[in-house]
Amino acid sequence: MKKVFIGFILILVMISCAEQSKNAVITQQAIDKAVAGLVSDGQSDKQSIEKGVKQVARLWQAQDGSEDEFIRFCAENYIALPDEKQAVFLKISDYMEAISGHFNEMSLQLQRQVEEATGELHRIDEMFSAYNPGTHINDDFYENKLAFIIALNFPQLSLAEKENLGNDRLAWAYARLGGMFTARIPANVQQTASAANNEAEVYISQYNIYAGHLLNREGKTIFPEDMVLLAHWNMRDEIKANYNKGEAGFDKQQTIYEAMKRIIAQEIPTAAINSGAVDWNPFTNTVYQSGNEVNTSPEGLVRYEKILKQFKAAQTVDAYTGNTYIDRNFSESMEISLEDTEILLRNYLTAPELKEVGKIIADRLGRNLEAFDIWYDGFKTRSRLDEQKLTEQTSRLYPDAAAFERQMPAILRKLGFSAERATYLADRIEVDAARGSGHAWGASMKGQKAHLRTRIPKEGMDYKGYNIAIHEFGHNVEQTLSLYDVDYYMMNGVPNTAFTEALAFVFQQRDLALLGIETNYETSADKDKADILDKAWRLYEISGVSLVEMEYWKWLYAHPDATAAQLKETVIRVAKEVWNTYYAPVFGIRDETVLAVYSHTVEYPLYLSAYAFGQIIEFQLEEYLNGKDFATEVDRIFRLGRLTPNQWMLQATGQPLSAEPLLEKLRATAL
Ligand SMILES: [Zn+2]
Repeated sequence: MKKVFIGFILILVMISCAEQSKNAVITQQAIDKAVAGLVSDGQSDKQSIEKGVKQVARLWQAQDGSEDEFIRFCAENYIALPDEKQAVFLKISDYMEAISGHFNEMSLQLQRQVEEATGELHRIDEMFSAYNPGTHINDDFYENKLAFIIALNFPQLSLAEKENLGNDRLAWAYARLGGMFTARIPANVQQTASAANNEAEVYISQYNIYAGHLLNREGKTIFPEDMVLLAHWNMRDEIKANYNKGEAGFDKQQTIYEAMKRIIAQEIPTAAINSGAVDWNPFTNTVYQSGNEVNTSPEGLVRYEKILKQFKAAQTVDAYTGNTYIDRNFSESMEISLEDTEILLRNYLTAPELKEVGKIIADRLGRNLEAFDIWYDGFKTRSRLDEQKLTEQTSRLYPDAAAFERQMPAILRKLGFSAERATYLADRIEVDAARGSGHAWGASMKGQKAHLRTRIPKEGMDYKGYNIAIHEFGHNVEQTLSLYDVDYYMMNGVPNTAFTEALAFVFQQRDLALLGIETNYETSADKDKADILDKAWRLYEISGVSLVEMEYWKWLYAHPDATAAQLKETVIRVAKEVWNTYYAPVFGIRDETVLAVYSHTVEYPLYLSAYAFGQIIEFQLEEYLNGKDFATEVDRIFRLGRLTPNQWMLQATGQPLSAEPLLEKLRATAL
């Protein structure tokens, strides 16, 4: 896990746009006049003038001034000379670093008591920790016109334009600044969007299935009386947990899967949602109270009404950004276009190797594959470690946070960093005893330290805590390199969380080696084989669910007046189509709807593909680092900063984002 200060950063990553919106108060005539004035003034690039002026016009609201004032503003604030522009850029960067850094410092201090193990909490601590001093920054920057100056001179680039910047680091840095002020969404519109979101979150958070009251095909209860499963996560995990448990396990899996299908089809009786008052047989879809069958009504459409509400809310935002939620999610937030995402996922889903993995799984199970076997979990190798012995070692080595902090240079040396680099990095990381399970909280300006929060019991750090601490340490190293050692502050960071998670996992995997336990370090061929099979199957599953969601969001934008009933019909149709195209050839069964079961799709629309990319990116980076001079490569790669994901991967590994390395390893190791 990784934590960052969310103020500017979030705003600049999340919100941006392209075309003139219908809510702007500046007419095309005024835009033309402002552009013509600037072009006749100097010989500067007309294209970039137009870009900047249009962006300012889109952001300009009535309270910012009249059209004449808008034209005068553009004339007075456009910087034509490249040297002046660069000098101004560097000044803005310094100011932004100071602002972000100090807001981060405030957040660190305001949340310190609740995050660190500092003793008993008072209600006042929680109130201060909930206070976000950065809430009004954006409004302030429009009011004082700084946002307009930035938009005018450093306009936003499209994803395609960014992809073409290559190694022009200054242009990249300008583009990152240009991503900061790109849309001004009125508070009431934002509130509508977050209300739809909250409503969906509440709906999902209370969507429990009382497994103790689920009946199997024979009408018998088979789960522990008090077992409650949150849809879909816990239901999926219960399916995973019942592999290798014989007929009884298979019975449980089938029963849960029947319940899932009823949720997707919305045939689930309302009485069976979040309640143990009745017994429910999902095979026959009948409900019993004290053993007698009772009538109840099906849920109907609620799930799809919630999704539709999210879509409607997104549309109201579209009016201010001039693009769609699909664009904002893919091209702007993730910075991988919908088209590229689709190509990558579809290519992977058609890989012939998956059929062979399916056969291996069916062999291991000794039966034909069922649809829920997309969650087959039997490749995970059970750890043969003596955890108690490891805990003895870690608690002796790390009795408290200070001991871990002192040891950081030594850990980095063992990973291959020079003494000088090890000290340099460790000096910029502070270790705190965490109240919870811990996290890595990065710095936002040079001179500030990253924080490694780790749980340390009185008896010293246990092995589990140590294993997590090494993971967080990986995050901190990334955070430090990508802040202190990038050429431009505006480029600090990584393209998205998958890139920092990758380094964290690479560190974490070396945890035993760092304790000097080379012999137990599981690198056997069997483990490698099981590992790659597991990864290939997990990516297969998440690629399908991502694709289903993308398909029906495209359909929604093509059918903006759709009803919840039509949406339901479409989601089910799309889920079956994706299944029949990519899964039926492997599973040998058709028309399954399981790919539509994810709860994320209601709560956080279009987020699923980020998981698919996370898996691809981590694998690709791990494979690249494997066998290379680890420290040198990490030191080089994480200075690249916040390029687009594809450019980052190209410059880091020489290869574009691709699932091909995973398939290659699958062929070489397991098939
Ligand atoms: Zn993490």
